[in-house]
Amino acid sequence: MKGIVTEYNDICLFCGKPTEAQHHLIYGKGLRALAEKDGLKIPCCNDCHNIGDVLERIHDNPMAEKLSKMMGQLAWEKRAVVNGMTEEEAREAFRIRYNKSWL
Ligand SMILES: [Zn+2]
Ligand SMILES: [Zn+2]
Repeated sequence: MKGIVTEYNDICLFCGKPTEAQHHLIYGKGLRALAEKDGLKIPCCNDCHNIGDVLERIHDNPMAEKLSKMMGQLAWEKRAVVNGMTEEEAREAFRIRYNKSWL
């Protein structure tokens, strides 16, 4: 599925250079496939993704990785609320689907 975070999928969400990769906001054991199915991914260039300096890329930067997961959860819950759930229901539904809550 297409990413649900931004409609500008041709440019890096972080720096605006042309997209070279998709970063899955939620990943790890069995979760990446769910994130793919739910569109929880953002367009980025290779430098901002996993090639640049550790403080400028999302991978291997522990705080950026945590924020990435929080952003993914927020995007998922927002979509669920738009589709009719209350915020509490969306939080619980996310927790059940991903077996964890980052918020
Ligand atoms: Zn970039
Ligand atoms: Zn990634």
